[in-house]
Amino acid sequence: MKKIIYLDNAATTKTAPEVVDAMLPYFTEFYGNASTIYDLGNHSKNAMNEARDIIADALGARGEEIYFTAGGSESDNWALKATAEAYKSKGNHIITSKIEHHAILHTCEWLEKQGFEVTYVDVDENGVIKLNELKKAIRPTTILISVMFANNEIGTIQPIKEIGEIAKEHGILFHTDAVQAFGQVPINVDECHIDMLSASGHKLNGPKGIGFLYIRKGVKIRSFVHGGAQERKRRAGTENIPGIVGLGVATKRAIASMQERTAKEIELRDYLIDRVLKEIPYTRLNGHRTNRLPNNANFSFQFIEGESMLIMLDMDGICGSSGSACTSGSLDPSHVLLAIGLPHEIAHGSLRLTLSEEITKEDIDFVIEKLKSIIERLRSMSPLYEDFVRKSKGGEK
Ligand SMILES: *Cc1c(COP(=O)(O)O)cnc(C)c1O
Repeated sequence: MKKIIYLDNAATTKTAPEVVDAMLPYFTEFYGNASTIYDLGNHSKNAMNEARDIIADALGARGEEIYFTAGGSESDNWALKATAEAYKSKGNHIITSKIEHHAILHTCEWLEKQGFEVTYVDVDENGVIKLNELKKAIRPTTILISVMFANNEIGTIQPIKEIGEIAKEHGILFHTDAVQAFGQVPINVDECHIDMLSASGHKLNGPKGIGFLYIRKGVKIRSFVHGGAQERKRRAGTENIPGIVGLGVATKRAIASMQERTAKEIELRDYLIDRVLKEIPYTRLNGHRTNRLPNNANFSFQFIEGESMLIMLDMDGICGSSGSACTSGSLDPSHVLLAIGLPHEIAHGSLRLTLSEEITKEDIDFVIEKLKSIIERLRSMSPLYEDFVRKSKGGEK
């Protein structure tokens, strides 16, 4: 297989070899059900609780506040649906942002059909939530604010502490989808007044199909999966011990390497951004220039169709994304890019490149050279571009 330069780490990441190694014995050797009383089962239970403690430590939380789920989407669904149900006697209003992941947005749409009211707060041109609008949206019936920690498409990091303070001041629960942020930026649930937090293994070099929901002690939240007594009777089902062990090791690894890894990623990210903006005309960066995920770059190229660009990059072994994996395949431009004010035709020409610790400067140089020639070729085939060039030349006379 030809060399692949994988720049789609916001979609998923490679499972780290040490994570796989740690998981393997839990398939074939320590396969006991954690709910049993014999030693084999205890072994599973201990491994699970160790992972729980590692994750809790990473957030400044307690082990008993971590509930394992099947990933980010489930955690988001749980946080929203179960809060809505548990607090509906207090009110029926939920506040979120326009740039959430579909796991939040589509859950909110479903809740609206059940009679809840949802306010989708605007973001500014950098993708930062408008705090004054958030405050204005609060009603006596507001039960929950859910705002993502960092955006999966444009990388913008939200003022989570400020949002947490606003929520706390008004006695409203605060949930954050931290699937992109967990393991990439430091998070402390107490400092940020976070009541619930979603994360997912496969976004931090852990396995797919495992995640967790942090639920602050004292938050009334209903069981999401009914059945056995697992996860303090709140999420039934025999625990995914290999996945949980993998998530624990991935978390430990991400936290231990965070400073060094992200410093290197930020340097490469900024190098990529600077060169692309300088060397490719009619290009813009999407998302906040500095207050963004260490590994995220997102560009819009005028007169370019995102899908064609992705296909051509793929022919050179470069994996990128034109929005979020979930929206590829549909012709609608990304809701995030529209929310930051991009017109449809510019949003269509977008490219997200998300780095990992394995990416080198040579990789980035290679990508930039390929990108330059791809964009030149695509533009040379674009009647819109031709027209634009002709008009601007005419204007110079
Ligand atoms: C990937 C992602 C999710 C979904 O997580 P899964 O584990 O794939 O279900 C939710 N929110 C954000 C911000 C994401 O990036």
